[in-house]
Amino acid sequence: MKDKLIILTWCVMGVFLQNCFGQTSPTQQKSPLYSRTDTTKVTQTNTDWKKILSPEVYQVARLKGTERPFTSEYEHSKEVGTFYCAVCGNALFRSNAKYESGCGWPSFFEPISKTSIIEANDNTLGMRRIEVMCGRCKSHLGHVFDDGPPPTGLRYCINGVVLDFEKAKTAEKKFNKKKTTSGS
Ligand SMILES: [Zn+2]
Repeated sequence: MKDKLIILTWCVMGVFLQNCFGQTSPTQQKSPLYSRTDTTKVTQTNTDWKKILSPEVYQVARLKGTERPFTSEYEHSKEVGTFYCAVCGNALFRSNAKYESGCGWPSFFEPISKTSIIEANDNTLGMRRIEVMCGRCKSHLGHVFDDGPPPTGLRYCINGVVLDFEKAKTAEKKFNKKKTTSGS
């Protein structure tokens, strides 16, 4: 009887933990090349990428696909932190450059630095667009348009599936402090 109870407890714990991790890390299935400190360029063939990326990420990052609009959890996110490339861990955008464009994808008016991304002409689908790729692993991220807000006037329209967000630890602390002091 006691043994059964212990097994049952473990089962409940297992489901609980699975739920916790499932909620906090939808894109956290990291590739072996993911690193937030290594800045060396990543070059892999699509055959290799296919083995290590999830089908959703592979479709956008390597086949230049587009996720369905209004499906990214990051589209309306107002959390303070940094957006990294979900494929390689390269820092791409800060939350203070993020804005709600209403276009259906997470939008930013500037990247973290000029070298964090690569831009290239894209004349596919009968349109003249500028493609945005990761500066480290050359994964397709989205496109940049010139209808953004000041100060840059640019709109970096990025697929949420190739973004990996981390909340700023200091910002989180400040926010919690403010919450507790204003609540008392
Ligand atoms: Zn990358």
